[in-house]
Amino acid sequence: MRRSARARYARLKIHPDSQVEVVVPRGFDERQLPSLLDQHESWVLRHLQRLQSAGTTPLQPVAAPGKVQLAAIAEQWDVTYLDDESGRYGCRAAGEGVLKVSGGHHWQPSLKRWLVRKGRQHLVPWLEQVSTETGLAFRGATVRCQRSRWGSCSSRSQINLNAGLLFVPPELVRYLFVHELCHTRHMNHSASYWRLVARMEPDYRALDRALRQAGKHLPSWLHARAIAAVRS
Ligand SMILES: [Zn+2]
Repeated sequence: MRRSARARYARLKIHPDSQVEVVVPRGFDERQLPSLLDQHESWVLRHLQRLQSAGTTPLQPVAAPGKVQLAAIAEQWDVTYLDDESGRYGCRAAGEGVLKVSGGHHWQPSLKRWLVRKGRQHLVPWLEQVSTETGLAFRGATVRCQRSRWGSCSSRSQINLNAGLLFVPPELVRYLFVHELCHTRHMNHSASYWRLVARMEPDYRALDRALRQAGKHLPSWLHARAIAAVRS
């Protein structure tokens, strides 16, 4: 069982190594745990069986990375893991290029949160710089660790950036910034939108193509996830 300040509900998760984890909100009464497990027993068994019968292609638990290379900002981090059972988990920089992750097998959410913090520190000021260069203003920027897209721009000129951009070559990150900033003028991919992009970045065709394939720069640990999760 893990208490999470951010959890609103109790949630069951099954990890690829068959560990069952219950994530509960802070005020959760532990005495409710047996009935919660009872209630979801068949769901848990079904998923465990599926895991075990994966047979010929067993699901490998993802290995925690020993190094994290952030190509976008030319940083490299050696990661060490502190396997304490205090229940606390987190990720902090300990000196030049050394990252310490505590909390045992919860290394993945810790690393993701660290990435989001790095994104706010590095990607957002960089976006501001490109915004100044291009004269395309935006209202605000958020950074998330998401699977589906590199970035987005809302009709109110709010730009969302994927923390995964930190793993991508800098020229592609810069192109993504230009791409999203141009959406502050055109909320579509019309001919006038692309004309504006071309003015800001003449090489946009090749960069756009490369960005579509930039998923290959993401390390496999980033989006490997617990195979199943259910909310109570
Ligand atoms: Zn677009």
